[in-house]
Amino acid sequence: MNTNFDRRSFISKTGVIVAAAAFTGNIVAQDDAGYSLPKLPYAYDALEPFIDAKTVEIHYDKHHRSYVSNLNKLLAGNKDLMKMDINQLVSNISKVPEAIRQGVINNAGGNANHILYWDVMGPNAGGNPTGAIAKAIDQAFESLDKLKEKVNQAGLTRFGSGWSWLVVDATKKLQVISTPNQDSPLMNGHTPILGIDVWEHAYYLKYQNKRADYLAAWWNLVNWKSVSDRFGAAISKS
Ligand code: MN
Repeated sequence: MNTNFDRRSFISKTGVIVAAAAFTGNIVAQDDAGYSLPKLPYAYDALEPFIDAKTVEIHYDKHHRSYVSNLNKLLAGNKDLMKMDINQLVSNISKVPEAIRQGVINNAGGNANHILYWDVMGPNAGGNPTGAIAKAIDQAFESLDKLKEKVNQAGLTRFGSGWSWLVVDATKKLQVISTPNQDSPLMNGHTPILGIDVWEHAYYLKYQNKRADYLAAWWNLVNWKSVSDRFGAAISKS
């Protein structure tokens, strides 16, 4: 199964197949129709027992969908902004008119963040990374277990809603950070390669208030292939 959104192709209004750029989430707006909700790369129940089917369904079909439709409403009439793929838009947030900027941060960020979130999870996943990403993790954090501790801690101490991230920073080094609400690491020049949504809507039905249990279980879902591909793209980016 292809669990990577970014390798999908998108067919434009003119019927031309627009090949997506590698691994950075080239999710383009479909002309006047605006951005679209990318297809979930697995069934709602594919992340059981770690995330239940109902949570995935509500999270994807209600929350994620609303970021996309709100974004299209906000950007109506801004054709230049809509020409950018979703990650470009988030990376260039200063180009967005001030009157709609916070809304775009929330909804373009929400869209970009969730595209990554769904993609860095998968069924029959978890385990250990291999290759360059594994080496980089050991170099930066000593071990995979230490990285997990750091990511979980960042998620646990993020007050209210937000995200815990593994990013490649501007100097190509790995860092663990967290962001509030739907802010994207791209807004600060960081390239996210792994992200965990720690807003209650991501875990509440199964874990209630126990965010720590959700974070601990989350690693059974991590799609290291996706993280590794994103890492490769980030470090080779000029
Ligand atoms: Mn969410």
